Amino acid sequence: MPSTPTGKAFINTDECKGCGLCVESCPPKCLFLAPELSAYGVHPAQYTGRDCTGCGICFYCCPEPGAIVVYRRVAAVKTATERRQGGSHATAL
Ligand code: SF4
Ligand code: SF4
Repeated sequence: MPSTPTGKAFINTDECKGCGLCVESCPPKCLFLAPELSAYGVHPAQYTGRDCTGCGICFYCCPEPGAIVVYRRVAAVKTATERRQGGSHATAL
């Protein structure tokens, strides 16, 4: 059963050179090279829209600055009041 994605990858096709390094390095294999050509005559990387963990490996292996942006979901930060109270309260039944 697929897990809930905790990240999201955005590819800037104007910066991508279609080298495929991100596709090969992505652990859950959620990137692929598009079948159509970009304005630069290369097959740019694309995100499938599923299973990104937000690990950032694609970002770090990409040789083109600005071609990939990765967003990672983080847990909500507790307010100072919630921390003093020891956390949020369960809903009353
Ligand atoms: S590593 Fe960067 S340049 Fe290479 S295909 Fe992926 S996004 Fe494009
Ligand atoms: S952040 Fe990790 S899981 Fe998401 S697309 Fe990049 S390499 Fe794949």
